[in-house]
Amino acid sequence: MNVEPAPANTATQALEQARNLLSFARGRSTQARLHVLAILLQAESALSHVDIENLAAQQGIEADRVTLYRALDWLVERGLAHRIAGADRAWRYNAQLGLAQQHAHFYCRACQQVFCLENLQPALLFALPQGYQLEQVELNLQGQCPACQARH
Ligand SMILES: [Zn+2]
Ligand SMILES: [Zn+2]
Repeated sequence: MNVEPAPANTATQALEQARNLLSFARGRSTQARLHVLAILLQAESALSHVDIENLAAQQGIEADRVTLYRALDWLVERGLAHRIAGADRAWRYNAQLGLAQQHAHFYCRACQQVFCLENLQPALLFALPQGYQLEQVELNLQGQCPACQARH
């Protein structure tokens, strides 16, 4: 799969991009998968289940909660989205394209949004003792995002 990551600013662009991505993924491209991926592509920060449900409802997407969650799981399975364990213990999701497989996450305590820090690759921060083979790192930072800082 070789898709150029481009910012999806409008709903139409996001849908188009989602359609492209799904055409490369094995498996059926259902309406729910398409719309959930488009929602993730459009979001500036990672989204919770409730966020996704609300956005789907706003966009007039007819899919019940279970269908949306299944679509989300499928996207994660296929590597089109990833799941983030938030500091508040709620799962959040973001699209995966263009992001390093392993990157740090930043939880803003003020607005409770989670951001993917694509340029911060946790694996590069650790020099493990000899004999240890690193396979996965989860780095969750907390603080204030730029928008919240600007408000103070
Ligand atoms: Zn914030
Ligand atoms: Zn991320």
